[in-house]
Amino acid sequence: MVESKRKDLEMKRLVVLVLASSLAARADDCATCTAAKECEIHATLDRDAAKALVEGLRRPDPGARQKAVEAFAAACQKHANCRPAANAQALAAALRDPHAAVFAYAAEMLGTSQDGAAVAAILSKEVDPILKRVAKPAKTDKEQIAWNDDISRLKGIVLGLEACGSPDAGAPMAKLLRTGNLEVMRLAANRCKEVRSREVPPAILDALEACRKMPDSTLRGAVFIALSNSWEVLTASGIKSPVNETSDPNESDRFLREAKAWWQKNGKTWK
Ligand SMILES: [Zn+2]
Ligand SMILES: [Zn+2]
Repeated sequence: MVESKRKDLEMKRLVVLVLASSLAARADDCATCTAAKECEIHATLDRDAAKALVEGLRRPDPGARQKAVEAFAAACQKHANCRPAANAQALAAALRDPHAAVFAYAAEMLGTSQDGAAVAAILSKEVDPILKRVAKPAKTDKEQIAWNDDISRLKGIVLGLEACGSPDAGAPMAKLLRTGNLEVMRLAANRCKEVRSREVPPAILDALEACRKMPDSTLRGAVFIALSNSWEVLTASGIKSPVNETSDPNESDRFLREAKAWWQKNGKTWK
């Protein structure tokens, strides 16, 4: 009995060890890099990768520029346990790209390959000018194309904020949730559930409230559902989400009422 218990424990320890080593392998950590200082090999590789990025971003083909972003992010991920702010700044140069697809891809890659706090600060600065532009409705075809491009840029930004894993992503995410622009809210509603920041749940409540006051539409319904789903993932409040926002407004009002009451009661201790 005792013997089998000991064997059981050994087995469990082995499983944990195997899991831990496979996780470390997946994250591509370097044994000699530390959080504060890069090892010689990676410092040299990063310098070369940054040089290649600068050159790659000068190429006339946007596809080639996107490849340059991809290569730099991959080089950084070779030593994921150390994330020098200089690398985040180097990759942020791609956010000056005139092509929306390059911008969006760079924003996303920042989130997956660089230091979370640095990325949240970088992306946060990009949000305001784009929000200002998309607030103006497009009147001509040309303006419509530019408007669509800005929505693509915002999509990259929310993916980057979602991936960066820093609570600092909460403030820009909350700003996007509170725009009152359904297209923008849809992007943030789907991606805010991974951002564990005190700023996010109250912003979701405000966005739900704003949705309820908007005229009925399929998009509004979809945003409401996405918001209520993200609310549940973040808070685990156990409040039943409305199945379809447009079919039963009473259900949506019920959800919003219960969610507000829950946050009032549990918000102070929520983490
Ligand atoms: Zn290293
Ligand atoms: Zn390193």
